[in-house]
Amino acid sequence: MEIEVIPVPALSDNYIWMFRDPVSGSVAVVDPGQDAPALAAAEQRGWAITHSLNTHWHPDHTGGNAGIKAATGAPVIAPAEAKKVSAVDRVIAEGDRVTVGDLEAEVWDIPAHTAGHVALYFKAAKMIFTGDTLFAMGCGRLFEGTAEQMFANMQRFAALPDDVLIYCGHEYSLANARFAAHVEPDNAAVTSRLKKMAEMRDRGEVTLPTSIGEEKATNPFMRARDADELARLRTMKDSFG
Ligand code: ZN
Ligand code: FE
Repeated sequence: MEIEVIPVPALSDNYIWMFRDPVSGSVAVVDPGQDAPALAAAEQRGWAITHSLNTHWHPDHTGGNAGIKAATGAPVIAPAEAKKVSAVDRVIAEGDRVTVGDLEAEVWDIPAHTAGHVALYFKAAKMIFTGDTLFAMGCGRLFEGTAEQMFANMQRFAALPDDVLIYCGHEYSLANARFAAHVEPDNAAVTSRLKKMAEMRDRGEVTLPTSIGEEKATNPFMRARDADELARLRTMKDSFG
């Protein structure tokens, strides 16, 4: 049976990812910035949310924790930094395992966007939840960390198999694609992906998930040769268009 992974749009451009383990029926939400849209999407499918997972403390990724727990009892599983804004039932960090029914993730510490940001890598299921660290054709802003840390994160993602699917926290793909085309005007993979992203957004479609293989070909931050190049790109992107 297939794992269903559903994007639940929230706030202005966030996605709450919701997925169900077909064996146990357990249902996790990742980065619930709001409770109502997640609860409605679950109810519509007849699903009961059993886990809330957070990648980092920012309120647009944690704001729905309390309401979802009140409605469903789902424990909040999050990095320690999330305690700044939310009750946390289980603190996770590098090397920990998180299970959602029969699905198992390894936890990666990927600091830079925030100091305690984590990724959840479901190796057997070939999916990784990257929050605001790795986006389609982009990376998160360096609010609490360094370009060196972000470069190390990008290298770690790039070492995964090409067919691992990446589920990130925002619909930033088109703006990221425009920036990628600006910095890599001769990269044909970038040019064609920009066109595809523009068409998808015109039709109101979700552009995610992306994959490690696609990012290796088109993401300038993953393609940066060193931390200095990533730092230069990040500074340019902060004031682009
Ligand atoms: Zn964030
Ligand atoms: Fe965010």
